[in-house]
Amino acid sequence: MRTSDTRSFSAGVKEELIRLPMGKPCCMLSEISALTQTSGHLAFRGGGWISASYRLDNAGTARRLFQLLKKRLNVAPKLHFVQTRQLGGRRSCVLSLGTEDTRTLLNALHMAETDEDGQIHLKRTVPRHPMTRQCCRRAFLRGAFLGAGTLTHPEKGYHFEWKAEDERLAETLEKLLEKCDLPYKSYLRKGTRVIYLKGAQQISDILAVMGAGSSVLEMENIRINKQLRAAATRAANCDEHNSEKMLDAGHRQAEAIRHISIAKGLFTLPPALREIARLRVENPDMSLQELGAMMDPPVGKSGVNHRLRRLMEISRRIEEEYGEGGKNG
Ligand SMILES: [Zn+2]
Repeated sequence: MRTSDTRSFSAGVKEELIRLPMGKPCCMLSEISALTQTSGHLAFRGGGWISASYRLDNAGTARRLFQLLKKRLNVAPKLHFVQTRQLGGRRSCVLSLGTEDTRTLLNALHMAETDEDGQIHLKRTVPRHPMTRQCCRRAFLRGAFLGAGTLTHPEKGYHFEWKAEDERLAETLEKLLEKCDLPYKSYLRKGTRVIYLKGAQQISDILAVMGAGSSVLEMENIRINKQLRAAATRAANCDEHNSEKMLDAGHRQAEAIRHISIAKGLFTLPPALREIARLRVENPDMSLQELGAMMDPPVGKSGVNHRLRRLMEISRRIEEEYGEGGKNG
């Protein structure tokens, strides 16, 4: 089991996705397509030289793409690392393909046309690959998450997003999410389209769609623990509220007893009520148990409660009586 509190949840999900089997040839191509759209670049030079390269922050994702390209397209990417000075010296992985391999990739993604002379023409700058099967849609969403996705830790909130630097990638993601019945929203952040999902259920669903089953379970665990903690806090607040109400009740009882004392005198009360009346007026904040323990002989909680109710009833009758009298006089 992963320890979710020591590292980012997003990284944990990616780690799980990276370990998934490569899948069927159609799905492998979908995942390559998504990674090309999120992390790929094309460079041209004279003499028909062309090179596709990928820059990835996550070494695991780079390894997976390396294997996908090799296995599905039988190409040989070169892997090297670059250190980015401006990003605090973070190391990122670069995969690059030679001219022949790049042609193979572009053909597979339906991006290139080769004429009779063997000259390559670029059809689209964003790779197109038909994703009519559900399995391929899932693979594409997974690839796009590995290339350009992040997920907030469920302890902090429920937010899942893809950054789509190209508007056509955004359109593709939106179409796929619609087909998967996943409600998404989008907005522009510094010129980049951000497509996101909110809510624990939606995020659980997208993780399942991408094939991150363990992460779904881990998120459910975090969610249940959060709910239990919230329930415990509510219960504690409720206890406090109850003791506040109890204090209020004590003061109301003391007030009612003073009322009886003024109207009739406590000596008019039966002896059993007289003692508790005196104790309550002196100790309005005391609990029923504490009051009962002070009596001679001691009386249980329900006995104290019963006597206090009788005192409240007497006070209520006096009020009625005096109220009626006041009206008549
Ligand atoms: Zn497929």
